[in-house]
Amino acid sequence: MTHRITALRENLANEGCGAFISLTPATNQYLAGFSGTTSAILITPDEALFLCDFRYTEQAQEQVRGYAITEVKGKLSERLAEAVSERRLSAVGFEPQYMTVDEFRALQANAGSVFTETPELVSSLRRRKDESEIALVRAASELAESVLVDLLPELRPGITERELAARFEYEFKMRGASGPSFDTMALFGARSSLPHGQPGDRALQEGDVVLLDFGCRREGYCSDLTRTYAFGRIPGGWFQEIHELTLAAQRQALEAVRPGVSCQEVDAAARDVISNAGHGSHFGHGLGHGVGIEIHEAPRLNPEATGVLEAGMVITIEPGVYLPGQGGVRIEDLIVVTQDGCEVLTRTQKELEILAP
Ligand code: ZN
Ligand code: ZN
Repeated sequence: MTHRITALRENLANEGCGAFISLTPATNQYLAGFSGTTSAILITPDEALFLCDFRYTEQAQEQVRGYAITEVKGKLSERLAEAVSERRLSAVGFEPQYMTVDEFRALQANAGSVFTETPELVSSLRRRKDESEIALVRAASELAESVLVDLLPELRPGITERELAARFEYEFKMRGASGPSFDTMALFGARSSLPHGQPGDRALQEGDVVLLDFGCRREGYCSDLTRTYAFGRIPGGWFQEIHELTLAAQRQALEAVRPGVSCQEVDAAARDVISNAGHGSHFGHGLGHGVGIEIHEAPRLNPEATGVLEAGMVITIEPGVYLPGQGGVRIEDLIVVTQDGCEVLTRTQKELEILAP
């Protein structure tokens, strides 16, 4: 992880900061390689310090490279503050999007330093993945897709959304994932119009929409995929229409992806297709998001997004059309932005498929 420490120090210098601190698991995984949930890091121009308590010392010694590891007792934020104070650091950068008010108060009360909000310091590094990270996302995605391929033929009338979601998550773990990368979404029938619905006791029936949005986490990296099927027969002409429309929008966005294109433009490529068909109000969420250590990370693709795509970004392209009370369709692929376009990591068929009951 020493090359990431070096890159972070460059960003620190550019922002005029004297140091960087973090108590955030995702940040500390990226910068120090630590997969535990409780740790602190302090990076200065010439020091890299890793703090943890007794529970994690052995794990840290195995995983963390390039840092002086110190076992501490008591409140981690206070010990971190003391380390800052001892070094008389000024302009200490931190990530305001992650730090709790409680942690911030402990730091301010004990460190006697000035803290500077640096929300982009690490995320500007994390949003472009290196080869090893892309390989990990690819492996997580392949694992999750292998579960889909095996579970689809098993679908029978009567299985509930909750049972199907549990089957996915069980298989993720049995095949080597640490777990799902977010709560698996399995939504049947009209409930598929809930863009972020929670699986419930609804039992599968012939003629249902089946919306599956899922991913797993494997070796610290996430995957994400959505497919929408018809079970037994097409629910109605409306479903065929919005499925074709969503797929056309998704393909339009994939066509638009290449380095230098703004995140807003890619969102608009899909959104225009849906709006022109009169369904603009039925696509109320952003087109996609970065995926890596976290399931939702930079960059964001939506109408208000800033920034441009860069080679090495791993993002989702997931337009959807949702008809309240009737049903919805979302089609989501996980892609890597390449030098001249993109590579789609997800292989599963996206054309309308009628699952045999
Ligand atoms: Zn998803
Ligand atoms: Zn997603």
